[in-house]
Amino acid sequence: MPFLLCFFDGQNGGSPVSCPSDKQEAGEGLKEMENVIRAIDPGSPLEGRAKIGDRLLKVNGHIIRDVLDYKFHAYDRELSLVLQRPDGGEYHLHVRKAEGGDLGLDFESYLMDRPRSCANNCIFCFIDQLPPGMRQTLYFKDDDARLSFLLGNYITLTNLSDREIRRIIDLHISPVNVSVHTMNPELRVRMLRNPRAGESIGIMKRLADAGIVMNCQIVCCPGWNDGDELSFSMQQLKALWPAVHSVSVVPVGLTRWREGLERLTPFSPEHAAATIDQVTSFGDGCLQDLGSRIFFCGDELYLKAGREIPPDEFYEEYTQLENGIGMLRLLETEFRAALRMSEDPGVQHCSIACGTAAAPWMRMLAGQAMTMWPQLDIRVYAIENDFFGHDVTVSGLVTGEDLLRQLQGKALGSRLLISQNMLRRQEDDFLDDISRKDAEKALGLPVIPVEADGFELWDAICGAAAAPQPHGKEPEETEYYRYNR
Ligand code: SF4
Repeated sequence: MPFLLCFFDGQNGGSPVSCPSDKQEAGEGLKEMENVIRAIDPGSPLEGRAKIGDRLLKVNGHIIRDVLDYKFHAYDRELSLVLQRPDGGEYHLHVRKAEGGDLGLDFESYLMDRPRSCANNCIFCFIDQLPPGMRQTLYFKDDDARLSFLLGNYITLTNLSDREIRRIIDLHISPVNVSVHTMNPELRVRMLRNPRAGESIGIMKRLADAGIVMNCQIVCCPGWNDGDELSFSMQQLKALWPAVHSVSVVPVGLTRWREGLERLTPFSPEHAAATIDQVTSFGDGCLQDLGSRIFFCGDELYLKAGREIPPDEFYEEYTQLENGIGMLRLLETEFRAALRMSEDPGVQHCSIACGTAAAPWMRMLAGQAMTMWPQLDIRVYAIENDFFGHDVTVSGLVTGEDLLRQLQGKALGSRLLISQNMLRRQEDDFLDDISRKDAEKALGLPVIPVEADGFELWDAICGAAAAPQPHGKEPEETEYYRYNR
């Protein structure tokens, strides 16, 4: 689930080696592949030599099955390519380019293959908790190792063939982001409701032996994988260090649309606090033994517990920032730095809308700014999530409808700042398809999306934010989501 679990405010989602599998399946499955060239970059080594509509079959003797094969095998300076014209005729090209330089080909689909859907039926799956009638693409459950490497998606390792595992090892695809949830194989089978889910633990050990780095995630469900089970999982994962580089513990997210699904209990503040203590104490031991605490709780767990978010140095390299680990701390650190460097912003009256969890934090930041510059008037509005249910408190799942209804008639100043993650990736729409433009029209003021970045937030407060763009990450991500829509 790539786009539901990222938030402004924490959350709760050389030289090629030989690939032994190349020869085994030569010629098989190619008609299924979407390796048709859609565009050739001007000035690239293949401009004027290959044609749009041709297919790339092999690079230096390796069959190109997907984007990973392409990126890896096209790395070298000298390439021997086999291409196929639409009439089936094949031709060969020899290419010289800079090592690591791009061949400049753009294919029909970003993955050059179909995205892999998941083989699980997890008890906590957020997609199963979506209301009916939303956009069809929101219901797609991906679990694709290629997207873990290329976009940072978390995968469960439950749908990998032995050939794919060997490819990760042979091509040294690292790091891989793994949704572990538990290291107890029987419990994993029950939680992922997949009889093969326990086998992934053996796969993790195999990847660790091969030096593949893994960043792991545990979606913690009270009564299932918390308490002693969590301690067991942490011990097992610690034993795989340094291959297991970091582990996030994030609370299960529960919407009001769980009819017919396994009964799950949300975290109470007390249980959130106990889990933080458990993970922090285990992390303290890791820090002493190994020099890294490895285990980190999601920001949302601290907010639920009413606990202070740890200081900057606690988060080491902020490895799982995108997963909401330390995001609020970094936001504050950056915002304070922006304030220290600030010049008189003049009179500014604006508002910030966010999920209920982050609202106290945002009020604290707004307070710091108004103390330093008393002419500022910044109002922070916490938006209750009527759409998904009030247990959903993150900004990233606030819908346009809730935002508009709850802000009608409020003093908003001259512009409204929202988290960029309230908008769907690469689009200007909220999850319920209300567009940012619709929101601007309804509220009668500019609605400015802001990344989780303290400097950007300060700029937006001062009215100096860049013109809103559709939510942008890597260009490759654009391609993937265009394809997967
Ligand atoms: S069923 Fe599990 S693995 Fe599949 S999308 Fe849902 S949470 Fe992710």
